[in-house]
Amino acid sequence: MRHKIVKNKRRLKKSVVNLIDTSDIVKAYDKVKLFFDRAVHHRKIAQGVASNQVGLDYRIFTALIGGKWQLFINPEYISKEGEEIIFPEGCLSINKKTVKVPRSYLVNLRYTVIKSGIHGLKFDTIEEQFSGSDARVIQHEMDHLEGILITDYQA
Ligand SMILES: [Zn+2]
Repeated sequence: MRHKIVKNKRRLKKSVVNLIDTSDIVKAYDKVKLFFDRAVHHRKIAQGVASNQVGLDYRIFTALIGGKWQLFINPEYISKEGEEIIFPEGCLSINKKTVKVPRSYLVNLRYTVIKSGIHGLKFDTIEEQFSGSDARVIQHEMDHLEGILITDYQA
């Protein structure tokens, strides 16, 4: 598995990641776990990492939400609400650059979480609302999964 953060824009733009079957996650759980550990390793410089930033083709990202790293599997927007707020963002994949990006204040997200079970992995799909900086980091990582980078917001 690739550990390095992908910085090639063309590659990041091409790597749109589709929904995955949870049985694929079971098969590739070591990779997913490693991805999560690597992301947490970057915590001093990042609030989130999308799987395609480390060369994994799963619709998964991880983000620091309320001081805790969370894994978001198959995330999908239910809705975005509220005012769009413009704020500078940086990105692990883009060197030394911040870009002012408009983001919705609220997002409603549907995603799958892993619940540890006695007989292997268990999954649960939940719906949750995020606001403020949590909503911002989620929209940033969701963009990655669609091949959108902060530099795409530059005028
Ligand atoms: Zn990024």
